[in-house]
Amino acid sequence: MTRKFNFCAGPAALPTAVLERARAEMLDYQGRGLSVMEMSHRSDEFVAIAEKAEADLRELLEIPSNYRVLFMQGGASTQFAGVPLNLLGAGGSANYLYTGIWGKKAIKEAEHLAVGSHVAASSESNGLIAVPRQNAIQLSGDVGYLHYTANETIGGLEFDYIPEVAADGVPLVCDMSSSILSGPLDVSRFGVIYAGAQKNIGPAGLTLVIVREDLLDRARKDCPTMLNWKTAAEANSMFNTPPTYAWYLSGLVFEWLKDEVGGLAAMNAINDRKAQALYAAIDGSDFYSNPIVTENRSRMNVPFVLADDRLDKTFLAESEAAGLLNLAGHRSVGGMRASLYNAVPEAAVTALVDFMGDFARRHG
Ligand SMILES: *Cc1c(COP(=O)(O)O)cnc(C)c1O
Repeated sequence: MTRKFNFCAGPAALPTAVLERARAEMLDYQGRGLSVMEMSHRSDEFVAIAEKAEADLRELLEIPSNYRVLFMQGGASTQFAGVPLNLLGAGGSANYLYTGIWGKKAIKEAEHLAVGSHVAASSESNGLIAVPRQNAIQLSGDVGYLHYTANETIGGLEFDYIPEVAADGVPLVCDMSSSILSGPLDVSRFGVIYAGAQKNIGPAGLTLVIVREDLLDRARKDCPTMLNWKTAAEANSMFNTPPTYAWYLSGLVFEWLKDEVGGLAAMNAINDRKAQALYAAIDGSDFYSNPIVTENRSRMNVPFVLADDRLDKTFLAESEAAGLLNLAGHRSVGGMRASLYNAVPEAAVTALVDFMGDFARRHG
């Protein structure tokens, strides 16, 4: 058996140590004689797994006690609707920072729900290569929340700062699907953070929502029960059957981050080194390029193009043959993209950089 280097944008690589542990516990979880997949979500065994996962996540992100952590389903895309439905019960306009494709989808969903939506700042005029600075953000007069996408997974554009919402009591809401847990975070700056699990947390099927408690009373009357954060909080995320196995596996990833990696400061340093190595290889060659301004280059998703796009197919075929998987850019933009999430080891980046150098020499 060989595990190759997987640069997939999502569902993404998981730590090998986590998969080995899951394999060891697969048929007989800690002597109970059954798999976690076969347990009642109300059993003592599973409730202990669920509580441990939440406690470890809280420790990693230092989540303050006045925040609830919800383990939901539906992906980040469902939360595009969940955000306005849970926050605009008293009216107000949905404000967005637009920096790429995922943010645009969030804006569209607010519009579906007939919420007045307002783009408070946009990267459109610079061609989506830099995030708007704080002084460019212009909230609407009746702002209900400000939403942004911390890291645009397709464009490879990442915020280098946390926006401020000057108005009192207005929550900052962040889609952190592709950057959560990539380094330390001041959760207290946010009203709501949400993330689909399949990039930097665990397997697909689980969606994390971290929400400040005082925001649980703002839902619209027509908010569906399964989308209602307060319902989920009151039921400890077990109003109905949660995605138990994805929850368990995410818990193993949190343990790995704590015990093997040594926490988010250590993870942050590793992620810096990985991204720097790849961007240096791109910038150091006329053969490859990435258009994003330096301070907003994503650490997690690195898109790049070849100077001659007729070589794209050859690049992808040869890289795959070299054991470097899933380097094709998103189908909407083409080119290449290497996703360097937490579970992608430094050795993978070294192998990719070596391959790119060799490919450029042979085809340049
Ligand atoms: C992948 C992704 C999404 C969509 O996530 P789903 O869980 O598939 O709905 C939304 N936002 C960002 C930033 C993403 O990377």
